[in-house]
Amino acid sequence: MVAGVHDDAVAISGEIAELRHAIHRDPEIGLDLPRTQAKVLAALDGLPLEITAGRSLSSVTAVLRGGRPGQTVLLRGDMDALPVTERTGVPYASQVDGVMHACGHDLHTAMLAGAARLLSARQAELPGNVIFMFQPGEEGYGGARQMISEGVLDVTGERPVAAFALHVASSELPLGIAASRPGTMMAASDTLDVTVHGRGGHASQPHGAADPIPAACEIVTALQTMVTRRFDVFDPVVITVGSFHAGTADNVIPDDARFLATVRSFSPAARASVKDRTVRLARDIASAHGLTATAEYIDGYPVTVNDGTELAFAEQTIAKLLGSERFVAAPDPLTGSEDFSYVLQQIPGAFIMFGACTPGADPATAPFNHSAEAVFDDGALADGTALYAELALRRLAAG
Ligand SMILES: [Zn+2]
Ligand SMILES: [Zn+2]
Repeated sequence: MVAGVHDDAVAISGEIAELRHAIHRDPEIGLDLPRTQAKVLAALDGLPLEITAGRSLSSVTAVLRGGRPGQTVLLRGDMDALPVTERTGVPYASQVDGVMHACGHDLHTAMLAGAARLLSARQAELPGNVIFMFQPGEEGYGGARQMISEGVLDVTGERPVAAFALHVASSELPLGIAASRPGTMMAASDTLDVTVHGRGGHASQPHGAADPIPAACEIVTALQTMVTRRFDVFDPVVITVGSFHAGTADNVIPDDARFLATVRSFSPAARASVKDRTVRLARDIASAHGLTATAEYIDGYPVTVNDGTELAFAEQTIAKLLGSERFVAAPDPLTGSEDFSYVLQQIPGAFIMFGACTPGADPATAPFNHSAEAVFDDGALADGTALYAELALRRLAAG
């Protein structure tokens, strides 16, 4: 049963590439992807799947119920594109102005649809159920969280025992090389929004006003001191103030000063701590100067944490399916973030990067995901499709 998955993926790889190209030509952004959803539904048409469309977003949840009793495994592929004007020159380039599949989610969608076909053909002997999670709105819209609130994790009647997601990379990894690590795989990404409230006045008489600018500057530098004094260097946080605005003229003290910072952390503990400490530090420094500060900590995506056992299982699966040289242990987490983290907060599983660099390009210098020039090679499609299918087959067989 297991031996034929890769051959079968190769046999349908032309159709998977066609679907991928159709999605790539016609990209959509955010939570509402009606044209992409229609392409997925057409690709799944005729397969023995229980299909539900999302209510608040254009997701597709497909369930394959195996012919033998067993557990449930979830496979996720995201579907959304980015506000980028494509400059790749590929024949299937975007035909929508200012929108591009620059993160390779078109490959994920097509590979997951391909895996649904491969597994459907094995329905009779499948020992358990597979949830195919076709997810909109990964790029900052929290689509995974919305699908969870609409019940994707409970759709078979019992929680999945494991969840897996693949993510292609247009550089950094050679074509066909998978990379991941146990524990923290990607950062949490949050926003700190601080406004220091003072009282404006004449710049020649600062004692008669309440100047918010020096206090806001002091908060900015104190945040960096806090990073080095209050956090373990081996569980780091990154705080970057990327926006700072106050005032209108050299001779006017403004009423307030506002800045925005991105905050990255790599463990739930560091994240909870930085959230509490940044807000307190901003308020207390303002207070020390007789001012007030409004400090809001806006949660982005949580830390993406791979389960060690499920990752080891995925590594073995990659070795058996593709060869042991095809998996590399990632030495460090990625500083980007991912909303598959919401799934992994509830279900043990693994998020695996998969190289899709074009064979002629140098993985060290080729444009990376989100670049207008990022090219993802079709050569990753058959392996990725087979890997999705094999992860489900082997995990269900393991019980
Ligand atoms: Zn992305
Ligand atoms: Zn992505």
